[in-house]
Amino acid sequence: MTSFQDLGLEEALLQGITALGFETPTPVQELVIPVALHSDDDFIALAQTGTGKTAAFGLPLLQRINPAEKNVQALVLCPTRELCVQVAGDLVNYSQFAHQYKVVAVYGGASIETQIRQIKAGAQIIVATPGRLVDLLVRQVARLDKVARVVLDEADEMLNMGFKEAVDLILEAVENRKSIWLFSATMPEEVRAIASTYMHDPQELSVGRRNQTNENIVHQYYICRADDRYSALKRVVDANPGIYGLIFCRTKNETKEIAEQMIRDGYDADALHGDLAQSDRDRVMQRFRERNLQLLIATDVAARGIDVSDITHVINYGLPDESEVYLHRSGRTGRAGRTGVSLSIITPKFEEKIRQIERKTKAVFTKLPIPTGFEVCESQLFHIIQNIHDQKVHHAEIEPFLPRIYAALEDLSKEELIKRFASVEFNRFLAYYRNAPDINIFAKGDKKGHHRRDTGTAGGMQRLFVNIGLMDGVSKKDFLQLLSREFRVPKHSIGDIDLKKSYMHFDIEPSYIREVRAGLEEFTINGRRVKVNDAMPRPEKEKKDKKFVGGKWEKGRKKAW
Ligand code: AMP
Repeated sequence: MTSFQDLGLEEALLQGITALGFETPTPVQELVIPVALHSDDDFIALAQTGTGKTAAFGLPLLQRINPAEKNVQALVLCPTRELCVQVAGDLVNYSQFAHQYKVVAVYGGASIETQIRQIKAGAQIIVATPGRLVDLLVRQVARLDKVARVVLDEADEMLNMGFKEAVDLILEAVENRKSIWLFSATMPEEVRAIASTYMHDPQELSVGRRNQTNENIVHQYYICRADDRYSALKRVVDANPGIYGLIFCRTKNETKEIAEQMIRDGYDADALHGDLAQSDRDRVMQRFRERNLQLLIATDVAARGIDVSDITHVINYGLPDESEVYLHRSGRTGRAGRTGVSLSIITPKFEEKIRQIERKTKAVFTKLPIPTGFEVCESQLFHIIQNIHDQKVHHAEIEPFLPRIYAALEDLSKEELIKRFASVEFNRFLAYYRNAPDINIFAKGDKKGHHRRDTGTAGGMQRLFVNIGLMDGVSKKDFLQLLSREFRVPKHSIGDIDLKKSYMHFDIEPSYIREVRAGLEEFTINGRRVKVNDAMPRPEKEKKDKKFVGGKWEKGRKKAW
């Protein structure tokens, strides 16, 4: 097996990557590093994110910098700010035991003055998004005449994002370059054109076949009717407890809508799309990276440059038009040798599209039935059991409570105890999915338009969501009064009311739902139309008395509470 030493890397860089836990080179590193280290040839490397491509160009790039020379000697172009920051950080990490090369990241949405100062302080490597670098060239801040090596990272994405002109300008400015290293997951015409205009007889370094998917990724798809797509999404998510996923939608609006519904339904989810300010995007990404978000719902554009290594599932909420885009989406999972699942939820007419993607990418797709309610409950149950089994016990802390716990549970047999522990979370899913219909499109007896609602009841009650909360001056007492006064709902038919800052959940007997829902939606509050939706039953752990803070109903609207 080839080692990093065999590839010709210097000792200080070897120490750096050992510290990062890299033991053996990935296939793309094995292929690229010797060429990049020992020749001035131009080359095209076909590599997706997750294959170790950053180190494949980063290590030789660093080794070929002259530490004594305080000019910009190398330039890396990346499509997004996120990737830029990531690559610059990686270069610093690889060289932690080598010379302290001066690496500067330049990208839009951050102070240009700071970046100018950093460049003037003696940048040796610039990692840039094309747009911002052109700004700097126009201001004559960045001099690129001493640049020997240019890396085009994710070239296909860069051109997809409309950076063609900027890339042209930059490649013309690096007039004394010795070589261009182009990395791309796919080889569309636009990338070919850049190669034939600016590169000299480039070698093609490719581990697999062009436009081919990563072998560590399993491709699956589910078929359902258009109006069952959201239910199918929830089923698939719920049937994969522990999922850490990226959900792709086709449009910004769909992204927002799905994220809102998922949040409402109690998932740790959020949206990433072009309407968000950079600071909000950063905040969402940070939460996702730290796993405070389990599901990130994104558009293709917003998801560019997302570099999170351990995403378990990519979910295509609808297929993209281009096979290349599918390839990019699915490449966000199955990274760094891990396995991943790329699954698609589609309506029947898109099955042909699956065949097209199969032909173009050589990915093998498996069609799966949408999990039934029973199957979801089963997966959740065994996930809970595994969690209980693997639970870390803080012996010293729990010890003082044990005598009381034993006393409280004394009358239960081991079998009864196990049943109850396992039921704590399981009941929530059971309640939700007990009467859930089969939403597979060819399921027997599942006549069009005749399937039951995909919502559950908890203790005979159903949970609803209302887009009104404390900040609207709403109080629990007033809400109860309103339900009894306007809709004649007796107090005992209302269960738990969970009032949050901007929304609330409440339990109600199903027989009142229609009238209450229709009635509440007649109201406006603070100029907003009241909206009511079905919600997941609340988690067991939340079932505790909450202190309630009252407020005043807004008055004087068209029909205000
Ligand atoms: P990249 O394709 O550059 O985005 O790399 C994907 C992930 O693989 C990153 O988290 C790297 O830290 C990791 N990685 C890259 N090369 C290696 C290697 N030789 N051994 C182990 N992990 C690696």
